[in-house]
Amino acid sequence: MKKDSKTKSSKKLTDLGEFEVINQLTKDFINSNESTVLGVGDDAAVIDFNDNQILVSTDMMVEGVHFDLAYMPLKHLGYKAVVSNLSDIYSMNGICTQITVSIAVSNRFNLESLEELYLGIKTACKFYKVDLVGGDTTSSTKGLIISITAIGKAKSKAIVKRNGAKINDLIVVSGDIGSAYMGLQVLERENEVFKVNPANQPDLSDYTYLLKRQLKPEARKDIIDFFDKNKVIPTSMIDISDGLSSEIMHICKNSDIGCDIYEEKIPLSEELKSACDEFKLHPTTIALSGGEDYELLFTINQKDYEKIKKSNDLTVIGYITDSKNGINLVTKSEEKVPIISQGWKSF
Ligand code: ADP
Ligand code: MG
Repeated sequence: MKKDSKTKSSKKLTDLGEFEVINQLTKDFINSNESTVLGVGDDAAVIDFNDNQILVSTDMMVEGVHFDLAYMPLKHLGYKAVVSNLSDIYSMNGICTQITVSIAVSNRFNLESLEELYLGIKTACKFYKVDLVGGDTTSSTKGLIISITAIGKAKSKAIVKRNGAKINDLIVVSGDIGSAYMGLQVLERENEVFKVNPANQPDLSDYTYLLKRQLKPEARKDIIDFFDKNKVIPTSMIDISDGLSSEIMHICKNSDIGCDIYEEKIPLSEELKSACDEFKLHPTTIALSGGEDYELLFTINQKDYEKIKKSNDLTVIGYITDSKNGINLVTKSEEKVPIISQGWKSF
């Protein structure tokens, strides 16, 4: 495990000045959206969405709270910071077109390390066809803070909120869940080993998928494209950033309904199951209360089931009921237990 070596640098931020830093970080970004009329370099960006509605979402990540640079390479951090923001736009059934990135950095960081962060940001921008149109750069007394604002668009009829789920709707989840949290458990364990014995080289080959889910997650733009292509508009949707239990509770509370979710239907990766064996954890608990999967949780009218079936990456895990039924997990032994929110809480 590599420790971060942000300190041994040639180019100190204080010697460069803010303008030079911003210029170095943003000079290689190329705008690809028609809606980006004016990007980085002026007092404000100019965006033109014609007749679409505008979606805006913002998120802040603080070193020591949301990430640990001991096991999170800066490039991955940049990528993940963008992905988590795009995920919020996709979960409204919108397309993200622009982001702004604001950073506060301590003198521990040099230009090279920020360039690494921006390489990750650029890679994500390119992959998801998003333009970086602005931001802010300032110093912090300790550590690194990244705040990203994502801007996107959607036709008003296509926007999907948390409050539209109806009784008898099917509950669907994309991909598999829980693996990102398990990846974090593996990294934290190896980091503890490293602290005791820095010469120890961990063998992480059994956890490739889990680590990928934690270090380089993807946002499900492909699912939004699938909805568009197959003319499906979910009745409600949310992205799974805090674990299935807290997300389903948001949908149920906002829509004033209840649900039954079937434990045996929850999609889990094989690596998650074997790592749970090893760590003596229950995979269902991890899926319910883990976090950072950035999968989509949504509800559809039953008439759309045939369309949803066309995707191998979507799993029906339950259905919506009257609110009097409550919010339940139907276990493998067919017991009905109320789901309580144990989602990932930052405080
Ligand atoms: P102002 O003093 O008007 O806030 P700045 O010098 O902070 O202007 O920013 C100049 C330009 O660079 C603006 O377009 C701003 O959005 C952009 N910018 C500043 N910091 C960043 C950053 N970290 N990443 C991307 N763009 C940035
Ligand atoms: Mg500024």
